[in-house]
Amino acid sequence: MKVLFATSEIAPWVKTGGLGDVAGALPGALRALGHDVRVLVPAYPALLESFPDAEEIARPHWLGGLLPTPGLREAVAPDGTPLLLLDYPPYFKRPGSPYLGPEGRDWLDNHLRFGLLARVAAWLGSEASTLAWTPDIIHCHDWQTGLAPAYLHYLPGQLAKSLFTVHNLAFQGLFDHASLFELGLPDASWHINGVEFYGYLSFLKAGLQLADAITTVSPTYSKEIQTDAEGMGMAGLLRHRAADLSGILNGIDTQVWNPATDPSLLHNYSARHLEHKALNKADLQRQLGLEQRPDLPLLAVVSRLTEQKGLDLLLDVAPQVLAMPAQIAVLGSGAARMEQAWRAMAHQYPTQCAVTIGFDEALAHRIEAAADIFVMPSRFEPCGLNQMYSLRYGTPPVVRATGGLADTVIDAADEKHGSGFVFGPATAEALLQALQRATSAWQDPKLWRRLQKHGMARDSSWEAAARHYAELYQSL
Ligand code: ADP
Repeated sequence: MKVLFATSEIAPWVKTGGLGDVAGALPGALRALGHDVRVLVPAYPALLESFPDAEEIARPHWLGGLLPTPGLREAVAPDGTPLLLLDYPPYFKRPGSPYLGPEGRDWLDNHLRFGLLARVAAWLGSEASTLAWTPDIIHCHDWQTGLAPAYLHYLPGQLAKSLFTVHNLAFQGLFDHASLFELGLPDASWHINGVEFYGYLSFLKAGLQLADAITTVSPTYSKEIQTDAEGMGMAGLLRHRAADLSGILNGIDTQVWNPATDPSLLHNYSARHLEHKALNKADLQRQLGLEQRPDLPLLAVVSRLTEQKGLDLLLDVAPQVLAMPAQIAVLGSGAARMEQAWRAMAHQYPTQCAVTIGFDEALAHRIEAAADIFVMPSRFEPCGLNQMYSLRYGTPPVVRATGGLADTVIDAADEKHGSGFVFGPATAEALLQALQRATSAWQDPKLWRRLQKHGMARDSSWEAAARHYAELYQSL
């Protein structure tokens, strides 16, 4: 199959979350299965710096509305995946986050920036394209490319089918009615069965409504978003499209996240030499200024500090957890109020609670290796990566039964397969009970070793996901 990925992020160059990881890894996994996958992504400064010799191979013009004529530059990622860099410096030659200006607010022309990305994706899948290569499938990701299925639907001469993958339903790409004209969409698209959403133009809704198929990044999340409680206003539409909606679990980069070779660790280890894990714990306790106590369970969090991640629940029960006794290490950044509350907790319990505010890849690796128990009490979680890292690092996770967490972690009650601890309600009491179960299991070395081994044996590679996507492309 010939597949064009259209994405606003791609690791390792531009990444704000799981979407960047998927766009960085999945094309390579699909290519390994023999599919011809290429990636269309804006030519942000980080990409142009990495590929200074990328040659212009096309100039898509007459795109409609107020859309400009960009250049398309060709480069090849280190894993061999061809990249099509959408070059229009007035839109993309901007520092920092792909979405936010220096003030931390959305760029005012985001509808044009990502509308252009979607429009060029559709152009590449149409008779208008001047390239010799025409994709069979355009695989779109999140609201930023949600208009591509709309252009494919409303404009003539289209040759490709579309797949729309939802990484997070919370971001909906809402713009006012006037954008319709600026983006060159026909008046007929302003309709409840088109791109209109409660008086706004929603890029997300356009993708959900008009793509030939929809996926989310875990099977459970694909079910949850069809309920009014978790559908963020899209549940009715998603129920209507249930026959075209499925969930495919993300993989992880098993080379970057491998405790046997991880260069960030002072002591590498594997399932056969788990005793070395304790050395990492001692190192981390030293590094973070925690008391050197091998006999206390060390609980850890690496996360965005937002409402979604449920770390306010952990804050509520932290005094009881520390009194067990136990230690807590937190690495994260996000909402100012939550950062402040965690800092205060560390201040109150300096030998037992260590809080690092910021984004630190190496420390994230060291925490995964050093901790005894990983904590993810998310209110919702489309897939989640950290629980998969912690399974792989022999650090049984305590997770809420939601989205990808429910699909990857098996509760310890299952003696044959249990790899962690799963709880139901998003309440502090339910979390505390699960943490109590986890810390008392940790006191039983034989049981604990079994949980660790089950988690470490789980196959989290991208290959399984790639096979599922390939089947779906074929069906389209
Ligand atoms: P989300 O995409 O919702 O933030 P995921 O679990 O899917 O959550 O992915 C988060 C990614 O970002 C993981 O790779 C995680 O390790 C990383 N991460 C999050 N916060 C930090 C941080 N403060 N420092 C280092 N890595 C972080």
